[in-house]
Amino acid sequence: MSIADNLARINHQIAEACHTAGRSETEVQLMAVSKVHPVEVIFEAYAAGHRLFGENRVQEFQDKSQHLSNLADASFHLIGPLQSNKTGKAAELFNAIDAVDSLKIAQRLDAAAKALNKRLPILIEVKLSHEESKHGVAPEDLTALLTAMQPLESIEAVGLMTVPPWSEDAEVARPYFRELRRLRDTSATSFPQLTQLSMGMSNDFAVAIQEGSTCVRVGTALFGSRKPPAAI
Ligand SMILES: *Cc1c(COP(=O)(O)O)cnc(C)c1O
Repeated sequence: MSIADNLARINHQIAEACHTAGRSETEVQLMAVSKVHPVEVIFEAYAAGHRLFGENRVQEFQDKSQHLSNLADASFHLIGPLQSNKTGKAAELFNAIDAVDSLKIAQRLDAAAKALNKRLPILIEVKLSHEESKHGVAPEDLTALLTAMQPLESIEAVGLMTVPPWSEDAEVARPYFRELRRLRDTSATSFPQLTQLSMGMSNDFAVAIQEGSTCVRVGTALFGSRKPPAAI
């Protein structure tokens, strides 16, 4: 299967999931997660008409971005954790930062965006699972973070994102998706600009769409496994 075939298949599956959920397919964007894969996969998806991409490391994307200047209408979001010493580069390279989880990072991104004369959309990553490896702000700290971010004029929080524990069974993720949506809905009374919900990956995006996702982040189903081939 080519990347173009995979894109067509997944876009069709997204449309079906929207239809089942009684939603318009224009409400859900597909983000192609190209991390770890070579820059050529981005070219191939772009040639097939795709424009929204997710990368999870600033350094990796900095290397790739040197080859991407012809793709001016493509949009690249940072979906991985951001260290404070990389906020300047991140603000410069990415169109949006989708995994902000502290006031310190938000303030640094705001300062960097201001210096670049740029207004940067961001998502707040919420940690809903108790796994050590997961990032994000605790749900009980979300309102305080959004309130503290209000004076920051060069970044705008436009939604929430989460990464549930991985499971073969997509139903395991459903309560996490539902909880993120509930948090967005309750926060939106005070912060109406929070419209987006970035949730759902290769194996559970249909469930995420049923629960209100507005952006599904799909890597493996589009570009194949990120694991190196097993040694012979
Ligand atoms: C890698 C990654 C994805 C894509 O996961 P797949 O299971 O390969 O679709 C989505 N979101 C984040 C934050 C990621 O790091």
